[in-house]
Amino acid sequence: MEKILNFINGEFAEPANGQWIDNYEPATGKVYSQIPNSDADDVERAYEAANAAFPIWSNTPYQERSRILSKLADLIGENLDALAAAESKDNGKPVSLASHVDIPRAESNIRFFSTAIMHYASEAHIMEDRVINYTNRKPVGVVGCISPWNLPLYLFTWKIAPALASGCTVVAKPSEITPMTAYLMSKLCNEAGLPAGVLNIVHGHGHQAGDAMVSHPGIKAISFTGGTTTGALIAKKAAPMFKKLSLELGGKNPNIIFADCDFDQMIRTTVRSSFANQGQICLCGSRIFVEASIYDKFKEAFVAKVKRMQIGDPSDQSTKFGAVVSKPHMEKVLSYIELAKEEGGTVLCGGKQHIPEDGNRAEGYYIEPTVIEGLDYQCRVQQEEIFGPVVTITPFESDEHALEMANSVEYGLAATVWTSNLTRAHRVAQQIHSGIVWINCWLVRDLRTPFGGVKNSGVGREGGFEALHFFTEPQNVCIQLKS
Ligand code: NDP
Repeated sequence: MEKILNFINGEFAEPANGQWIDNYEPATGKVYSQIPNSDADDVERAYEAANAAFPIWSNTPYQERSRILSKLADLIGENLDALAAAESKDNGKPVSLASHVDIPRAESNIRFFSTAIMHYASEAHIMEDRVINYTNRKPVGVVGCISPWNLPLYLFTWKIAPALASGCTVVAKPSEITPMTAYLMSKLCNEAGLPAGVLNIVHGHGHQAGDAMVSHPGIKAISFTGGTTTGALIAKKAAPMFKKLSLELGGKNPNIIFADCDFDQMIRTTVRSSFANQGQICLCGSRIFVEASIYDKFKEAFVAKVKRMQIGDPSDQSTKFGAVVSKPHMEKVLSYIELAKEEGGTVLCGGKQHIPEDGNRAEGYYIEPTVIEGLDYQCRVQQEEIFGPVVTITPFESDEHALEMANSVEYGLAATVWTSNLTRAHRVAQQIHSGIVWINCWLVRDLRTPFGGVKNSGVGREGGFEALHFFTEPQNVCIQLKS
């Protein structure tokens, strides 16, 4: 059985403790590889390699850093098919999604930041009395990057690319549930010419390897994407050590649909924003609020479309809807469907585990895309993050009513608004408590824009120069000129 290895100091290494974790294929529910159950010893080795590489990498001219990272992006592009197949197998997502979204985006994340540093300028503040201040942006040092399982290589590269481009050296941990593409990418790093120790990848459990990274006194910043509860744990541990923290956390995003929207475009996109990646995207709009005058029309058209969605083998190119990531996650999502019934909801379609007829996949983790109505907006199902193929639909009477429900949750990551009235679009967008608002679209991403949430959805912003700011420390140099 294939063994995934840590990548430390440019070399592949087994875990120091000799322990391994089974890695399951969600499509079949079977173990197909093993990953290192790394602990603090592996993290220490990774740190030492990163620390030794830091003076060299941080002093490497930015053009050279850019060239090496561009080469890594090229290699990801050249290996797109293999990486997409691996991502699909590891995560359960349709291979077509991995090859059209995840892997191209991993490539463009690296390319984006490899070129962003070519345009990253310092500020100068000139005072009238012949004093000049300029801002010197220095890489923070050794940083830790911890990423989740839903968009494995996509979110892994979204963190390591700005860190490396800034001149930091990195200890990174992908989710233990989906480690494969980070491992495959580590094989490309040496070919790209990334010096040994600049990027180190340690695989293992969050509570063990991840915790060792967060606790390590030499790791100066943690960039984390994952659940809000984990984010709170990390913040608690890192705060007394005064580490820089970037936390991209959970969401419970509203999708507000006004009667004057382009109905057909809205329906097409709402199916995607509800169920893309089996609803396991932090930006999915899981709470759908529909203006009462079109509620019945919406319900009929939406449910009809969702019922037509076919659950398939993720490795089949024609599959649009695959497996969820793990058995515990499947059970968690199914428990929320049961809770919805207890809370008075009506399941309009889906609502159950799907067991494929194909015997090889009979133990895979499949859930029918599920639409629920009739729930109070303050009930648990409408307040807590489910992170699966489950959406609620709720009518609203006025802008104020929609906003009250939209803003009622503890999260504030993203929102979607559908309306043809530009004034209303702006007004509602201004009043939604979220870091990102899409109007008449969803998941349209410009990598230059600030990305992140408010409230319990996170602290700080990724994207564009925001990410380069995070991985650098500004130093003000003040010069008094002779008169
Ligand atoms: P988790 O919080 O469980 O895990 C995220 C990462 O943190 C994993 O690598 C995990 O390792 C690690 N980890 C877990 N515990 C610790 C710890 N104590 N110390 C350090 N690291 C730890 O999230 P999931 O992987 O379940 O991802 C789903 C969540 O991510 C959802 O809440 C979703 O909304 C959020 N998310 C947010 C995004 C955003 O941009 N705001 C984007 C995508 C997802 P391991 O897997 O081994 O436990």
